[in-house]
Amino acid sequence: MDHFLYKDGQLQAEDVAIAEIAATVGTPFYVYSTATLVRHFQLFDDALDGLPHLVCFAMKSLSNQAVIKVLAEAGAGMDVVSGGEYARVKAAGVPGDRIVFSGVGKTADEMRMALTGGIRQFNVESEPEMQVLSRVATELGVEAPITIRVNPDVDAKTHAKIATGKSENKFGIPISRAREVYAMAAALPGLKIIGIDVHIGSQLTDLTPFELAYQKVAELTEQLRADGHTIDRLDLGGGLGIPYSTSNQAPPLPSDYGALIKRTVGHLGCEIEIEPGRMISGNAGLMVSEVIYVKDGEDRQFLIIDAAMNDLIRPAMYDAHHDIVPVVEAEPGTDKATYDIVGPVCESGDTFAKGRDLPKVQAGDLVAFRSAGAYGAVMASEYNSRPLIPEVLVHEDQFAVIRARPTFDEMIARDTLPSWM
Ligand SMILES: *Cc1c(COP(=O)(O)O)cnc(C)c1O
Repeated sequence: MDHFLYKDGQLQAEDVAIAEIAATVGTPFYVYSTATLVRHFQLFDDALDGLPHLVCFAMKSLSNQAVIKVLAEAGAGMDVVSGGEYARVKAAGVPGDRIVFSGVGKTADEMRMALTGGIRQFNVESEPEMQVLSRVATELGVEAPITIRVNPDVDAKTHAKIATGKSENKFGIPISRAREVYAMAAALPGLKIIGIDVHIGSQLTDLTPFELAYQKVAELTEQLRADGHTIDRLDLGGGLGIPYSTSNQAPPLPSDYGALIKRTVGHLGCEIEIEPGRMISGNAGLMVSEVIYVKDGEDRQFLIIDAAMNDLIRPAMYDAHHDIVPVVEAEPGTDKATYDIVGPVCESGDTFAKGRDLPKVQAGDLVAFRSAGAYGAVMASEYNSRPLIPEVLVHEDQFAVIRARPTFDEMIARDTLPSWM
């Protein structure tokens, strides 16, 4: 459920008309609903009720300071994957003991930054990383709390670019080698083993892969404990999928996911962490765009809109589907037309949808892309020198720009000329 509904024929974000935001901010833009963000976080938090737990928002899915603050105030921890993300959550006031550091290529500088600024744990992904972390922590005279990310070799049955739990993926260490690698970690100075980490991929629409992975983690917990390690915390990753299309079967609910966690690892007495990103932020955001032209092609109509692949890359990158709806609700009985919906960028990949049925629209009409909160704004670029589009946050009947659109001058001023020019 989200808070983007029609009222009196106008699409709204909570109690604010999208058209009003468009008139103030200009198009294209992203808009997020505070109530939806909080509600989705709460669903996960409630799903783990009864177990000691922390829901860490995977902020790579949506990393605006204002969004971080909303979720942190609701009680979320944060999963970060870079020094930049770490700096962002700290700037938003999140305490170190609620920050988890994931990622396959953490640098020594990033480790130093987190060890100095405060960290709940590092999810370590390889032996060389373990050695560098050991050295950095020892130099600083501290102990780095770690889990080791294991790769359970299960097929997440999702898009190849976002599957991470098969042995061919670059993530984690093979679960078959876990005991050996934990023994190595235990022998290194400056590291404190506290648990196990696993994350098998994104946009999983079936719970079975989670079940298989968590069963393996439960077995491993008992083995590692028998080997003498302290396993008090299980980080079970993110990855629960969302419905991108209203016509699809709904993916599993957080409550079912929570029940699965309790069933597979609940008996171990561990503190549970999960790292949902998309499921919290995805349906909490829209991207809104204006139709520039309706162009008649030889055998089809093109809707050329003012948003492009640089603003929302998911369709080009993951073949992703986004529902696209008119901002002014079509009257019942309005004619439909079939469109290819494209942006202005000079690439055929700049296509958001092919053969999409929409109520007939005209130049100047506004359309909204649903489920654009996750991996939308954060993956945007300025390709074709199109300035990053603004982000707007709605709270009940208020809205605010939480990242402004740069002017052309600001965009150009980021380049500097060498002294010899
Ligand atoms: C990307 C990622 C997540 C979040 O994935 P979602 O599909 O957005 O829930 C969580 N943990 C790790 C380690 C990730 O890389």
